[in-house]
Amino acid sequence: MRKLQQQDARLYSSFRLPAVLHQVLLCETEEDLCQIDAAQAPLILGEGSNSIFLTDMQRPVLRYIAKSVTETPEANDILLHVEAGKNWHELVSYTVSQGWWGLENLALIPGSVGAAPVQNIGAYGVELTDSCVYVDFFHWDSQQVQRLSNAECLFGYRDSIFKRALADQGVIVAVGLKLHTNGTPKLSYKGLDHLSADCSVREVYQAVLQVRRSKLPDPQVLANCGSFFKNPLLTVEQFTALTQQYPQIPAFPQADGQIKTAAAWLIEQAGFKGQRLGDIGCFELQPLVLINYGHGTAAQLEQWMNRIIATVQQRFGICLEPEVRMLYER
Ligand SMILES: Cc1cc2nc3c(=O)[nH]c(=O)nc-3n(C[C@H](O)[C@H](O)[C@H](O)COP(=O)(O)OP(=O)(O)OC[C@H]3O[C@@H](n4cnc5c(N)ncnc54)[C@H](O)[C@@H]3O)c2cc1C
Repeated sequence: MRKLQQQDARLYSSFRLPAVLHQVLLCETEEDLCQIDAAQAPLILGEGSNSIFLTDMQRPVLRYIAKSVTETPEANDILLHVEAGKNWHELVSYTVSQGWWGLENLALIPGSVGAAPVQNIGAYGVELTDSCVYVDFFHWDSQQVQRLSNAECLFGYRDSIFKRALADQGVIVAVGLKLHTNGTPKLSYKGLDHLSADCSVREVYQAVLQVRRSKLPDPQVLANCGSFFKNPLLTVEQFTALTQQYPQIPAFPQADGQIKTAAAWLIEQAGFKGQRLGDIGCFELQPLVLINYGHGTAAQLEQWMNRIIATVQQRFGICLEPEVRMLYER
């Protein structure tokens, strides 16, 4: 295990607010994890593309950086056992280069494989749960790895057991994924619907890259954490009431009967698109993405976020919930 002291938090979060991380622990094996003092409640971090440090952190920050990939062919499927430190997009690109189906719609999502089950990453009609067979989780209490099946992970919209009962209980060390040598493209999303039903996995992947690059800011250029808020889930009654006043409100009916609407639309209607407070603002092409234009501060971010939440609440009666993880010690 490597221990790094007094780290610049801007290197550990794609939102790049200034802060200091007192100690960063880089672990690569279960033996490393067994040496950790769980009483210190280390904060688990992947690549920080969904995490924002609002203050300096005394609490140790732990990264699990092992990143091997093991492939097991099974008839028309491939089972991949991927360690948590692997970069997600690198993994997707590799699987597409092999002609395997399953992850192509999830190309270019920043971050690590270990973080992917935490919020059940999703894009363009596909979620991690669609290919995830198991997650290996090291528990601080038992000092052992438990294999959780897909059902045991309790995946939901940007949600899983790792955000709930297992939050702060341990570390995801590996993820098992099932991919297919023969597949059918998932083209329901409107940016992909120009592709033909017999297109290749590479064509879907290329189209996803193109749509994402045209709409989303590159975090290397403009500091951001992607969608800042979750898309709200409404009851049919709530939604019907809103359509009386706002007939254009977007609707994405869910399997459980709820209706998902677009947080980006609500924020745009509330007048925040392209607006900013100091160096924090809403991206001009996609207002759901909050940007740190260079010298943004935690105070500005909190003020801006609260202003958006209050305005959307007042106008639509909908309470926006952050999708990003905000970390602070006060
Ligand atoms: C430009 C941009 C676009 C994005 N687009 C999408 C998108 O389309 N869909 C989507 O779902 N997300 C999207 N995101 C959000 C982000 O990419 C995902 O949440 C990603 O999974 C974060 O990975 P990370 O390694 O950076 O996680 P981090 O920010 O480091 O951590 C996120 C969470 O995972 C936990 N975690 C990380 N590693 C482990 C581990 N090994 N064990 C246990 N817990 C762990 C952390 O404790 C934290 O709670 C986007 C972000 C950006 C910047």
